[in-house]
Parts: sequence; structure tokens; C-alpha cells
Amino acid sequence: MAKYIFVTGGVTSSLGKGIIAASLAKLLQSRGLTVTIQKFDPYINVDPGTLNPYEHGECYVTEDGAETDLDLGHYERFLNIHTTQANNVTTGRIYQTVINKERAGDFLGKTVQVVPHITDEIKHRMKLLGETGKYDIILTEIGGTVGDIESLPFIEAVRQLQWELPEQDVMVVHLTLIPYLRAAKELKTKPTQHSVKMLSETGVHPDIIVCRTEEPLNDDIKRKIALFCNVKQEAVIEAMDASTIYEVPLLMLREKLDLICLKKLNINGYGAPNLDKWNGFLQKLKHPKSEVRIGLIGKYIELQDAYKSILESFIHAGAPNEVKVKVVNVHSEHLTQENVAEKLEGLDGLLVAPGFGNRGIEGKIHAVQYARENNLPFFGICLGMQMSVIEYARNVLGLADAHSTEMDAKTANPVINMMEEQKKIKMMGGTMRLGAYPCEITPGTLAHKIYGATSITERHRHRYEFNNDYYDAFIKAGLVASGKNPETGLVEIVELPNHPFFIGVQYHPELKSTAEVPAPLFVSFIAASKQYHASKAVK
Ligand code: GLN
Repeated sequence: MAKYIFVTGGVTSSLGKGIIAASLAKLLQSRGLTVTIQKFDPYINVDPGTLNPYEHGECYVTEDGAETDLDLGHYERFLNIHTTQANNVTTGRIYQTVINKERAGDFLGKTVQVVPHITDEIKHRMKLLGETGKYDIILTEIGGTVGDIESLPFIEAVRQLQWELPEQDVMVVHLTLIPYLRAAKELKTKPTQHSVKMLSETGVHPDIIVCRTEEPLNDDIKRKIALFCNVKQEAVIEAMDASTIYEVPLLMLREKLDLICLKKLNINGYGAPNLDKWNGFLQKLKHPKSEVRIGLIGKYIELQDAYKSILESFIHAGAPNEVKVKVVNVHSEHLTQENVAEKLEGLDGLLVAPGFGNRGIEGKIHAVQYARENNLPFFGICLGMQMSVIEYARNVLGLADAHSTEMDAKTANPVINMMEEQKKIKMMGGTMRLGAYPCEITPGTLAHKIYGATSITERHRHRYEFNNDYYDAFIKAGLVASGKNPETGLVEIVELPNHPFFIGVQYHPELKSTAEVPAPLFVSFIAASKQYHASKAVK
């Protein structure tokens, strides 16, 4: 039987609930327990796949092709496990299921209500992974902030589970903010008291209160929070701001967050935490020997969460290279043929980001051309790969009007074309080519050197593809298609052999990069950028 830890949030959003949940899970995992994390989001979208990145940051794609909240990326990056569709549930998905059942007549004439029908469906999904028998502990992060109208059914479901399951099988960790008032030089506990009170009014009492704070919590403050919030003083946990999110598990270890959970859940026989790999990564991360400057060419750069997995992958890849990766955001909309050299000056590598739609497209193409012609390491992901194909068609094959049919449906040279099976699809949600697909790599290519394998799998999220009608023309002109889908022949990797590092991939390698197992493409790209940087110094 799995045990359940629920993580709720109070006072304000953006406190880093996902990081606290992932850190706690990491510690439990490091003690030999099998753990997974799931997120329940109160919004009505069935999944975040149709959300604009400006709204909700990156959409994270799992192996099984679920379009999920970006917190699932943190879970995977911390735990080195694969999450699935079952790990991310929204209000929209819950209601969709219940309404479909109602239409099918499954409720036998009963009035369908929030309690018990919606809450039953929530509880069913909260227990789903626990019932597989694969896990000792299921952590569930409840999105939103306690007090939101939208999160009420989720909190009610937690209340019912606390009541239904044995006492030692369920616990609640509540994350709050202890603001520091600079003028008064004081930490304030009142917002936390109010938020715990609000949670208690719904019948859920937290077992642990994790306090985000800029200043250390002294014993007096801890005692006060414990007294007013009715928890043991040892269960008031200080969560100081950290220099990197990868430090948070160690902060939580010091505060004994994992041990307090194990005690409450009555789990015995666990080991000492084995964090050797994690610490090895962290030490390298914190003590880089030099710096490389990577240009991130994208159109959502005002919002860093839009490229979350890419930014984290750079952090993972910097550590083994012993460099700090300084990401320089370059807005693709502002890049022109005239200013590209000036805007990209001083960079050691270029990553052209994924994306959708027309905005900033020409800027991306200029950036690719600049990298290709100046031997600057280039890495194109998904749309970035497609732009490298268009650039090559226009400037090397001489097809001046080459384009993707996504941007120009009538182009005479559609070198990037909508995938055949996508043409009949009308619905937008969950209909792209999604999730993990195999890719066969040609021996002797750069991709082969990077992966050290001829057969890999990577995750996808796209509707358009390399148009194989142009395959021979590209190959004749020197482009190498080094990776293909073994069943369909779809080109997944392109590269240029007469360039120090030029590679474009149709898939998203950033989705599989973790702190302990960084994505090979990112590690090699940073190594090439480091080399480029060193060669500049010699010149
Ligand atoms: N818009 C492109 C496509 O659908 C690329 C998608 C992406 O970058 N994720 O094929």
C-alpha cells in the first residue's frame, strides 16, 4: 500500500511548491523508497497543451505523450524518473470524465454534484498511481493557493482521503511565506496563521508547515508558528532562498523534512540518504572554472518559464563541462540581416528555440545563417531545426522562397511541410505528434558521436516535418540527415559535416535532461561552445 503526502500552498502563488515537493521526493528516494509525484491543477483547460507559453510557461511533454504542467519537468529532473499522463490532472479533465459518464448514463438518474461526484473522481485519480503497487510514496502537489474558489474540490478530496485512509498513510505539507518587513526588521507570521486557519476551516489540518523566508527563522518565530498553527515545533520548516533550486534538497535535509514525514507516515527501515551523485553535480555547478555565453534565440524570452527545460538543461550540461552557462536572451523579432552580427557578437554558441507561428521567424533564419557562415556552434530544437532547413534551402540550395507551410501555406518550395497524418486533424488539444519516438542514427555522424549509439528515443511535440521530396537536393548540397524515424523515414536530425558543431533536431532533447543524467546533445553543444570560446582567446 502506498502512502500519500499532499503539498498545498498558502499566502501567495510562486512560492516554489513544485521545487519543495520535488526536493522532499528526492530525499525520500535517496533513502531507498520508491516515490513519484503528481500535480493536480485547478484550471479548466483539460491540459496546458493549448495554453500560450506567456500564460503558463512551457508545456512539458512526457514519454507517453501527455502535455503537462512545467512542474512535471522539475519532478523528472530531480528524481530521474518518467512521469505519465496520470501524473498531471486538471479540473478540466476531471469534469470532462464526469460529464462523459453522465452522458453515458453511468450515474443511473442521480443528480451529479461537486460532492460526491467530482470529489470522487479527484480521489480516484489521486490514488491511481498508488494502486499500481509500484510506489511506497505518492506526493501530490495541489496547484493554486488555499482560499482560491477553484481549488476547493481538491482540498475537499484531500480532507476525505485523510478521513478514509489509515491515519499513518496520509499527511499534508503546507507551504507558506513568512515576509520580512525591512522597516520593522521583523519576520511576520500573520499571513501564515491566516492561511493555515483557512485550510483548517475546510477540514484539512497540515502536519508540516514549510516557511519560505529571506531571513532565518529563530526559535521564537518557530514556536509562535507552531503554537498558532497547531503543529509541533519540529514540524515548522525553514526554507530559505537558495542560490540554485538544486540546493533545496540539501536545505530540506538539514531541516529534517524527510525524517518528519517518515515518522508521521510510520515508515521504518529506510536507509541513510545517498546523495553522492547529486552532490557531485552540485559541487561542479557551484564551482565553474570558466564561462560560456549562449544566445537563446526565441520569441517568448520575456518570460523565462517559456523555456524552462532548455534553461535547466544548460545548467545540467554546464556542470560536467565545468563552465557556467550564461544564457543571453535574444528576441528573434528584433533580429535583421543588418543587425545580426552586432546582436550576436560575443556569443560562444546559438540555440534557436522551439515555437509556433510566424512571429520572429525571419530573425531565427538570420541567426542560423550567421552561425553557419561564422562557424559558431549551432543547436536548433524543433522549430529551430526547421529554420535551419529553411535557411539552407534559401541560401545554399538557392530556393529563395523556401518556407514551412506553417508560415506560408502557398510557398512554392515547402521544405517543411505538415505531416501527412496531421492534415485531417481539426481539434487542437492533444493532437500533435507527441511523446517518445525511436530514432535511428547514421554511424560516423556527429549525432552518433554525441549519443554513442545508433538507436535512441526522444520526445516530440510538432505538426510539421522535413519534406522528403527535397531530401536528395539537400543531401547533394551537403546537408546530412543523420537521424531518422525507423518506421516512417521522417528526418529527425540534420547536421553539417564541414562545420565545427551544427545540429538541428526535430525532437526536444531538453525534456529528458536531468541533473544527474544531462542530455548528451546539450553536454556536447556546451563543450563545442567552450572550445569556440577558447579558440577566440587564442586569436
Ligand atoms: N511549429 C512547429 C511544428 O509544429 C515546431 C513545433 C515546436 O517547436 N515544438 O512542427
